[in-house]
Amino acid sequence: MLAGMAQGKQVERQARETLRALGARPTAQRVTVLAELMGESNDLTAQELHQRLRRRGSRLGLATVYRTLGLLSGEGAIDALSHRPGEISYRWCGDHHHHHLVCSSCQNVVELGDCELTPWLDRVAADHGFVATAHRLDVAGLCADCRAA
Ligand SMILES: [Zn+2]
Ligand SMILES: [Zn+2]
Ligand SMILES: [Zn+2]
Repeated sequence: MLAGMAQGKQVERQARETLRALGARPTAQRVTVLAELMGESNDLTAQELHQRLRRRGSRLGLATVYRTLGLLSGEGAIDALSHRPGEISYRWCGDHHHHHLVCSSCQNVVELGDCELTPWLDRVAADHGFVATAHRLDVAGLCADCRAA
């Protein structure tokens, strides 16, 4: 119990520092939402996150959670994923450029390491007189567990 609380405080401190480093105001709402995502290795929808926070005794409303997630995503603190039909989910990731493998069955998310797409994208972009400055890519599929099931 005490250990859990101490850990919670530490995650909140990390959330505050992450927000400051991004130049975002570390409001209580942003810190609460970001800290919750930092403690979760998979992605969560606004509704799932809202339910968790409620179970912890938080009074943040669903609309506030939606808005806060949108802000955090816009500020680059979290990633927005669109692999769930009709729903955006959010995940806390490192700040390096990366891509995800997402399981369409159990929603498991795997973060990929080094991206090797840039040389290919530079080439195909140049074929169209284009200069590529950024790209986003998530790969949908079935994870090993779901393939075995
Ligand atoms: Zn990510
Ligand atoms: Zn799966
Ligand atoms: Zn990439």
